[in-house]
Amino acid sequence: MANESKCPECGGARYLVERKGEKRIARACRCNDACDSCGGSGRIHIEKDGYGFVQTCPCRAIAQRLTRFNQAGLPARCGLSFDEFLPQNSAQEEARAVAYTTAKRYRPEEPTKGFVVAGPVGTGKTHLLCATLGYLTLELGVSARYVEVSFLFSEIRKGFSENRSGLDAIQPLVDADVLAIDELGKGRQSPFELDTLDELIARRYNTNRTTLFATNFGLQPEDPRARGYHDPAAKLASNLLRDRVGERIYSRLHEMCHLLQFPQETQDFRKKDRGTR
Ligand SMILES: [Zn+2]
Ligand SMILES: [Zn+2]
Repeated sequence: MANESKCPECGGARYLVERKGEKRIARACRCNDACDSCGGSGRIHIEKDGYGFVQTCPCRAIAQRLTRFNQAGLPARCGLSFDEFLPQNSAQEEARAVAYTTAKRYRPEEPTKGFVVAGPVGTGKTHLLCATLGYLTLELGVSARYVEVSFLFSEIRKGFSENRSGLDAIQPLVDADVLAIDELGKGRQSPFELDTLDELIARRYNTNRTTLFATNFGLQPEDPRARGYHDPAAKLASNLLRDRVGERIYSRLHEMCHLLQFPQETQDFRKKDRGTR
């Protein structure tokens, strides 16, 4: 494909990503129908060691990757490109590097450490989750899911009301090779919801699956003034992730993930320049 002239519509990527309602959707570019290698038939003839074979043309492999992308459920509002994520400080620079490496070096057969990115609203945390999942699905064909924690909890409650056990109701999130959970720590979070979240994270940990997280709550662990809450209302008011999700989940994140904290003074991308996140 290296010496083909690039399609003006997709720039040679062979797919286009669009917004559809609340989600991002990818579709095959028209240039796939006029593939130079197979003439659109989807099959190519190759010679190897004096034998001829018929093979599926690489232009058809894209269908599965597009399906993976569309199944991931990425939100329409987020950026997808690592290049469009513009760090304002070294913490954001590091986070971009970690996310980029997570995507590029991902191997399904090897356990890959995920990451937790924590910081104020509008600092590109969702962008990093989506750029990572976008690359994994579109370029590598990895199965992935994006979910906001409030949606995750509502699925758990729905499953419970239908008499399905916690994880049954969210099986695609258990099974995805890579799962991204956004807005971790948000919401009221009943013990039942947190137990199911804990079970989900434990299951993914035990099966060596990669999980990514974003949160508006802080990771700074050792502020003694923040420790020792026994009053649930005080926990709810805490701005530390550890208090929000509990010790068990928090310590699991430490084992599974690189921890990335943006400083509180990191500016809101959306306020600075609308449209670039
Ligand atoms: Zn094209
Ligand atoms: Zn082809």
